[in-house]
Amino acid sequence: MKVQGWMAAAGLAVAMLVAGCGSGDGAKVGADPGEWRTYGRTYDEQRFSPLNQVNRETVGKLGVAWWAEFDTDRGQEATPLVADGVIYTTTAWSKIHAFDARTGAKLWSYDPKVPGQSGLNACCDVVNRGAALWDGKVFFGTIDGRLIALDAKTGKPVWDVQTTDRSRPYTITGAPRVVKGKVLIGNGGAEYGVRGYVSAYDAATGKLAWRFYTAPNPTGAADGAVSDKILKEKAVGTWSDGAWKQTGGGGTVWDAITYDPKTDLVYVGVGNGSPWNHKIRSGGKGDNLFLSSIVALKPDTGDYVWHYQTTPAESWDYTATQHIMVADLPIGGATRRVVMQAPKNGFFYVLDAATGKLISGDKYIPAGWAERIDLATGRPVETPAARYNEGAVARHLPNGLGGHNWQPMAFSPKTGLVYIPSLQMHGRYEDDPNFQYRSAFWNTGVRRIVAAPSNKPGTEPSIPPTGELLAWDPVAKTTRWKVALPSFWTGGVLATDGGLVFQASGKQLVAYDAQTGARVWAYELGAAAIAPPITYALDGEQHLALMVGYGGASASDQPRRPGRLVVFKLGGTGKLPPYAEVAALDPLDLTQGELSAGDPDKGAAHFSAMCAVCHRGGKFYPDLARSPVILSRAAFESVVLDGALAQNGMASFRKHLTPAAAEDLRAFLIWQARTAPPPPPGAKGHPQ
Ligand code: CA
Repeated sequence: MKVQGWMAAAGLAVAMLVAGCGSGDGAKVGADPGEWRTYGRTYDEQRFSPLNQVNRETVGKLGVAWWAEFDTDRGQEATPLVADGVIYTTTAWSKIHAFDARTGAKLWSYDPKVPGQSGLNACCDVVNRGAALWDGKVFFGTIDGRLIALDAKTGKPVWDVQTTDRSRPYTITGAPRVVKGKVLIGNGGAEYGVRGYVSAYDAATGKLAWRFYTAPNPTGAADGAVSDKILKEKAVGTWSDGAWKQTGGGGTVWDAITYDPKTDLVYVGVGNGSPWNHKIRSGGKGDNLFLSSIVALKPDTGDYVWHYQTTPAESWDYTATQHIMVADLPIGGATRRVVMQAPKNGFFYVLDAATGKLISGDKYIPAGWAERIDLATGRPVETPAARYNEGAVARHLPNGLGGHNWQPMAFSPKTGLVYIPSLQMHGRYEDDPNFQYRSAFWNTGVRRIVAAPSNKPGTEPSIPPTGELLAWDPVAKTTRWKVALPSFWTGGVLATDGGLVFQASGKQLVAYDAQTGARVWAYELGAAAIAPPITYALDGEQHLALMVGYGGASASDQPRRPGRLVVFKLGGTGKLPPYAEVAALDPLDLTQGELSAGDPDKGAAHFSAMCAVCHRGGKFYPDLARSPVILSRAAFESVVLDGALAQNGMASFRKHLTPAAAEDLRAFLIWQARTAPPPPPGAKGHPQ
């Protein structure tokens, strides 16, 4: 058979490569087409699999091989890894599990026991996007900022290091990558007020090898880090007086870290500013390097090589942390080694991988903040109404969720197309004249309007958000095909040599023809999924694996379901059991229970500052205006002040709310229960 013969030949090639190469596990990454050893399968992170047993002709025979259910119903974003017949996956709350990839038999699980309180620092749910493998160890990050190494065979801890200052609201949701024996990890937290960096740890010992800060030290001091020199030369002069001196400026490296063995460079995606509002952050002055940039570093030392800033003077949560991939593209009659990214700002960038020189930058969604990218300067040409410095309200595409968020893209070298899980949601940006840095809460400097008894914001027409799977041609700089998706909060993507593109779409896993976008197969999962599928082969059988579960930055339109790992193969006959029914919260009977004498207008301000980021009236986090807890002062205080539900992530707010303030909040929620209409479709979602 063609597939088995091809796989046997590939196996032999792997054996030769490993035997002949002394550079540790790096040679194994991507060498065996049946494995998925690193986050993006190969170092270039194309998420393309050379397996083709599942193809346009056979895909109809895909069925469930086995499945496993997890002990958490929060967001599931992980890319499982497969090596040596074992599949590893992480779940919400930074837990990790290993299964026999053939049978689904559980081998081990490890729970790092992150405190529920630490979930409060996670802007976008307590998710985890995956693990990394190297020399018999498996590595993953935790919501409370640790990087942990386990023995890959037994799941027993080898080392566990704190990568962050625990007194600041840092979190880790991204997957580590291991390059030449160093484990690279970033962190998140820019909305809460942190300073971004990426660190490299020795895979064997957990000792810090180097750290690169993406923004200057607000105290003006040197860090004693490899970034000191370049920050002084290039970055310090691009910042002016402003709130960044309290917030740390942002620029977190919360997702993309991509290595190219050909250039021997690591490409790091840098996040948005803290606060978002450039006028508040930096007095409206300067580009604020290296916010919203791709930065190229040497993996051995962390030394700076080049950077490209996608959004100078970032002011809209336009991170450049999105998936970075490396590829060879035919451009101008030559083969160019390029770095590609579709960051939040709506432009698709192609850069020279060795120098960072801009090759092209073109809109993949109709972004409204800039007209175009000037190829001569590499800078965007902003539209006149892009900013909101002078009292104007800026409204444009995209909002802080971006045209593309963390959900991975895929590139097929066969079709030459990049498959982008894109979304379109309009943003509304207004300067917050009362901005004050508050360490435990969102600090965007953008005014948030919550309806309250004395404040009835006008009803602005809301444009419903949409999601599309785009097949983007990075050479012709145009969309070849696109598919409308049932939700704007879309799933990550996989491309295969079987001529297929796989993506979870609402509650289905769907296969599309990679050339045309024709839908060729779909499977009912019973619950929505957003994680990217992967594929692997064992004993001549190709499998597909997907983490099923919703959550993340924009989860309010689906109910919570226990996470599952579902594995498919041709002829699979397994059946997924139905999920237990989840009762929706009915409107409260306000004639029963204890009404409040608190001030609902004061309560609205507390709600806006502390609660609205999570509790947006959807299904994923409880709609507080429908929670019976608000009908009893004692019950409300036990949750809000005493932390009765802290292990679920609903931490105690006693440091931030007096009992009288909590009662004002309860009065507001009762007012909301009485008056608020159901949230409009455009109200759901908030940025990562
Ligand atoms: Ca952000």
